[in-house]
Amino acid sequence: MERLIHSNLKQAKLYFYQLLVSGENYSYREILALMTDKMKNLLKADSVALFVYDEWQQRLERISYAGPRQSGFHLSVSYDPKHRCMPALLRDVPRALDRILPLQKADEHVIGFLYIGGGGRMIPDCRELAFEIGNFITHLIRLQQTKENEQHAIQLYEATTNLHASIDMHDVLTVLIKTLQQTYPQFTYALLLAQDYHGDTDLPIKNLVYDYSVHEASTKAYMTGEVQVEVGAEGKVINRYVPLNGKQGIYGVLHVSLPFGLQYTKADQSFITKLADSAGNALENARLYQHSKKLISDLQLLNETSKKMNANLRLSDTITLMHQQIRDTFGGEEIGFILYKGNQDVGTTLAGSTEFFFDEKSKPFLEFVGRHYRDKYGEAMFISNFQERYPEIRLSYRSLLVFPMVRSEQLRGVVVVLHRNPSFFTFESFRLIESLVQHSSLSIVNSMLQERLEKLVITDYLTNLYSRSYLDERMREHILGDTKGGFILIDIDDFKKVNDTYGHNTGDYLLIQVSNLVKDMIGPADIAARWGGEELAIYLPHASFEETIEKAEQIVKSIGGSTRPAVTVSCGVSTWTEADRPSVQHLFSRADRKLYDAKRLGKNRFCI
Ligand code: GH3
Ligand code: MG
Ligand code: MG
Repeated sequence: MERLIHSNLKQAKLYFYQLLVSGENYSYREILALMTDKMKNLLKADSVALFVYDEWQQRLERISYAGPRQSGFHLSVSYDPKHRCMPALLRDVPRALDRILPLQKADEHVIGFLYIGGGGRMIPDCRELAFEIGNFITHLIRLQQTKENEQHAIQLYEATTNLHASIDMHDVLTVLIKTLQQTYPQFTYALLLAQDYHGDTDLPIKNLVYDYSVHEASTKAYMTGEVQVEVGAEGKVINRYVPLNGKQGIYGVLHVSLPFGLQYTKADQSFITKLADSAGNALENARLYQHSKKLISDLQLLNETSKKMNANLRLSDTITLMHQQIRDTFGGEEIGFILYKGNQDVGTTLAGSTEFFFDEKSKPFLEFVGRHYRDKYGEAMFISNFQERYPEIRLSYRSLLVFPMVRSEQLRGVVVVLHRNPSFFTFESFRLIESLVQHSSLSIVNSMLQERLEKLVITDYLTNLYSRSYLDERMREHILGDTKGGFILIDIDDFKKVNDTYGHNTGDYLLIQVSNLVKDMIGPADIAARWGGEELAIYLPHASFEETIEKAEQIVKSIGGSTRPAVTVSCGVSTWTEADRPSVQHLFSRADRKLYDAKRLGKNRFCI
């Protein structure tokens, strides 16, 4: 009997030695499995199991088992080594011949237990064997830890290098998840991000929900910056929440879920925490980089737009430029520019706005905008679901932005931007368009003033007809560039009498009436001007001889008697064709001579 034990022990020791030496060829699990198998054969036992105490989790973990498939063992039981008693729960139903031996050196603490099931009647004392197994396992674990640490250090180094080379959020998250999946394929992962993520969705990304009542552990991890655990049945950890810590803040939480029964060691925890910290720092860098890039591009946009606007003084150009910018950069579908005068609610829609703002059906909405502008003293509006907020106003666009354009008394208006989808515009876009509008409102005022000035120069203050210089200029251009045209000079008959009878004011008023009648009779391309005193002139671009006569006839007929006091007019007409390209002066002289003829022949007529 003694000999048998002795030779068994010798055999076992030799085998252990061989296993350790050939450790390169086998994995930790394989060595354990081989060793347990060997023990089972050596001891002629039904089953052999090894339990090792995990200091970190304060549990006994079954690390190896050889025997029938239905073992009835627990995979893991909680255990306190201070009590120094055998754990009763190694097996649900221990049998009489089963033996449980502590794995420990003479006076040292227990590192685990050896379980021998059945068959071992021939072996009276296995304490020495247990001692050897204890030695062996201590070695093996140390070896395994060294190997694992080395591997982790390499992986962590590689991952950290990759993480810090990334300036893109998606790249950072990809490195994090890929490294975890390579190192611990047995766990599943989710990234709970604190900020909205707009990148590709090939990663397990979820939004972090801050709610202690529903997601206590993840919320706590995010708030405290410390790892949190969620414990399932049998007191085993099933979920771990590792914060992604940066230097300035916490960017999210890594959720690691462990399938039931899988081990998670202190080394694993340290690896994952370090990796998560590295990722947190890399995320911070990526965000700072993105942020500064965005700031630069925003500034560039503002700068470019301002530059273009200052170079472009026409109001329509300014509006068109802003319209394009808002449409192309921010995706606005309807863009309107509305000016308010006095207490107007609807305002005047400027040319360059989209059709929607000219539509009669949009009136209630435009009234709403006008009222808001007036009541809120020109406050900007950022609404992501208009229908939900203002169901009483019919509008088929859900996202609404309104920006005031205010420059003291010269400009009071708004820019309205719409999109049919809800929550289409980001707050960043809103802020940026706001600065764009603020920057451009000065250009708008400038263009408006400029256009008013130009109009003043080219219009006659009394009759609102064009000035003579403007007509001169246009006629000069036209005679050079076209093939024909007509010119009509109009003089009010006996105007002196009107002045003498009714006074100068009435004379002025009569002049305005005649001018308005003339304006109503001409087409959009024709130009009517005050030639001087009570003489008016009309230029008809591209009109033939017959068309010009027709117009002169119409003028004499329509004005005669339709003013108060009633007056008649006389006209002198001249036309030109390609055959004679006269000067403006020449064309006028001819008409003037004909006017003289008309007067001479008794007035209230035209001559050609
Ligand atoms: P005729 O039928 O020959 O044209 O007689 P007339 O009285 O109209 O004579 P004429 O065209 O020579 O006189 C123009 C007068 O119109 C002279 C001037 O007092 C008056 N007049 C010119 N400009 C203005 C103006 O802006 N307002 C007023 N109220 N009168 C003007
Ligand atoms: Mg006259
Ligand atoms: Mg006259």
